[in-house]
Amino acid sequence: MVCLLCVLFFSPQDSFLTANTYLFMVQAQGMMLRDNVRTIRHMIRLYTNKNSTVNGTDYPDGSNSSEYVAQPTAFLPENFTYAVNLPCPEKLPSMKGWNHVNMTEIFMEDIMLQFSKHTDIEEAGHWKPKDCKARWKVAILIPFRNRHEHLPILLHHLIPMLQRQRLQFAFYVVEQTGTHPFNRAMLFNVGFKEAMKDLDWDCFVFHDVDHIPENDRNYYGCGQMPRHFAAKLDKYMYILPYNEFFGGVSGLTAEQFQKINGFPNAFWGWGGEDDDLWNRVHYAGFNVTRPEGEIGKYKSIPHHHRGEVQFLGRYKLLRYSKERQYLDGLNNLHYTPEITLTRLYKNISVNLSPELAPVTDY
Ligand code: UDP
Ligand code: MN
Repeated sequence: MVCLLCVLFFSPQDSFLTANTYLFMVQAQGMMLRDNVRTIRHMIRLYTNKNSTVNGTDYPDGSNSSEYVAQPTAFLPENFTYAVNLPCPEKLPSMKGWNHVNMTEIFMEDIMLQFSKHTDIEEAGHWKPKDCKARWKVAILIPFRNRHEHLPILLHHLIPMLQRQRLQFAFYVVEQTGTHPFNRAMLFNVGFKEAMKDLDWDCFVFHDVDHIPENDRNYYGCGQMPRHFAAKLDKYMYILPYNEFFGGVSGLTAEQFQKINGFPNAFWGWGGEDDDLWNRVHYAGFNVTRPEGEIGKYKSIPHHHRGEVQFLGRYKLLRYSKERQYLDGLNNLHYTPEITLTRLYKNISVNLSPELAPVTDY
């Protein structure tokens, strides 16, 4: 480009310009024009998309199908005003792009006190925005056993983030009792069934207790496709360990979760259940989407505990993911929960054992 300009302005034009140079210039200008048109088209799309407006103070017409439209990269301006009867946008000015992550241990009582004083959070951690209609009703499910120091740290970070994202939410801590190895997947199935008894949740986030999102633009709503939120973990040097990795924090609509028959119940101990979920999602015809770049970063709270026993049977089960999908999951699970309400979450305790999810031969 620079050279073309030199040619244009500093040389006796007609005598100097060869036909080729001229042709190249015309092509280059054509390209610039096309780029400009594209930019203008993009701007128009950006400003007519329901998530964003020209003056930033009103909503464009809103079908509820943002997923079909390419999302604009821009976040709404500070002076955006909300309307009580319209869906909250996804790219809010309150989402600044970072969370202040603080891993210092805190008492649950202090966190409860803090949120009771300063916010309008209802019993068991229910909250919804008042200045617009929450786009998603999100149940956050947390599998749990003996990680008492992690839970307050997680809630301390998630509550303000979800409020900034103007999502309706509540927390369900699904706690395993008894002596069997930990079963993260079965706990999620229990959590799903129990949460659906409370409210018609449309989105579920399956959240490890020790994963803290670093970026509040990691929007915990669901989508047309299942979401994998925890794309980059500090403990994996912020690199996705393998393409099919689906661990840590994921999100599915209630419909998607029902369609895939939930998690498998047969994974006792550490490992494999998240890979099986990945398989289920794909066998059901879905893909998985992830937040881009920096947005999917997480810090993990270092464990004080010895790791859970590895589940050595996972490779065999994973070979039969497809055959097992509709034999084992939401549809063969029986359990008896014990429920306790606390200020910030509902605690669901279950004594899990393999007999609760019998599987016929396959
Ligand atoms: N978990 C728990 N107690 C346990 C084992 C696991 O509460 O004894 C829950 C907790 O939410 C944790 C998740 O299951 O974040 C995944 O387990 P873990 O952190 O041991 O897995 P890793 O981080 O090693 O993959
Ligand atoms: Mn962990």
